[in-house]
Amino acid sequence: MTTPVPETVLLAAPRSFCAGVERAIEIVEHALAQRGHPVYVRKQIVHNAHVVADLESRGAVFVDELAQVPAGATVVFSAHGVSPAVRDEASLKNLAVIDATCPLVTKVHAEARRFAARGDTVLLIGHVGHEEVEGTLGEAPERTILVEDVAGARSVTVPDPERVSYLTQTTLAVDETAEILAVLRARFPALRGPASADICYATTNRQQALSTVAAEADLVLVIGSVNSSNSVRLVELARRAGRPAYLIDDAGDIRPEWLVGVRTVGLTAGASAPPRLVDDVVAALGPVTVLERETATESIRFTLPSAVRRP
Ligand code: SF4
Repeated sequence: MTTPVPETVLLAAPRSFCAGVERAIEIVEHALAQRGHPVYVRKQIVHNAHVVADLESRGAVFVDELAQVPAGATVVFSAHGVSPAVRDEASLKNLAVIDATCPLVTKVHAEARRFAARGDTVLLIGHVGHEEVEGTLGEAPERTILVEDVAGARSVTVPDPERVSYLTQTTLAVDETAEILAVLRARFPALRGPASADICYATTNRQQALSTVAAEADLVLVIGSVNSSNSVRLVELARRAGRPAYLIDDAGDIRPEWLVGVRTVGLTAGASAPPRLVDDVVAALGPVTVLERETATESIRFTLPSAVRRP
């Protein structure tokens, strides 16, 4: 089948890399340059197949668990953060740790410790099995309960309804989280939360930009990997807006049948997807008019940890 060519591509802005992802990738690059090979990375540094393949080709060794890292080696913790148990294990093995945890995830960990220390049960809104959630849960496992959805919010029980707090994963859908929170607030009027939202600026901005683009598009494409929470949330958001939407790792995933009868394609990329993939997708769509819908500008940068900062 010949691939149909749409007339217009509407780019959502902001899109693609956030400050936490840029920092995490830079940390691995600096570690490789400064310490030589191998540099081990626990879990995918960020949830993107292209980023991982690129760093692998440059000498990074990705492992699932610290058991796969030789004693005394250098290991980078991914942007999603780790539990205290993982830090203890690294210390027992005498590993040289470089922590690439996004500072906005570190903020949630600090809140988990603070809320648990004041005697609260912590309701953590997030997705079971996600690395960020596992890390946050590990801060106070005996006091934290995972709430995944509205049904979970309706059924969760706590030892003392007067002493209950909530936290959220940083990459959730803003609208769905608001629904879950409304249920929790109705059930636990004493519920307390973080001073500022845990869903991060990058997640919020990308969802807002995509909503604007989806309103004008016949089809929405989201560049990102299947294990990228914020990318998957963007696809779901577009579908909730009534648009056909697909997650693609790169231009090679586009299926010609998706484009039949489509005049305007809305295009975005999750926070872990490299910007160059957006250019590739636009090029693959053919001779299209490219317009951008910008709903926010981002200037946030995070400093590198001292372990890789040059003197
Ligand atoms: Fe940090 Fe948000 Fe980016 Fe995750 S999506 S790395 S929390 S800025």
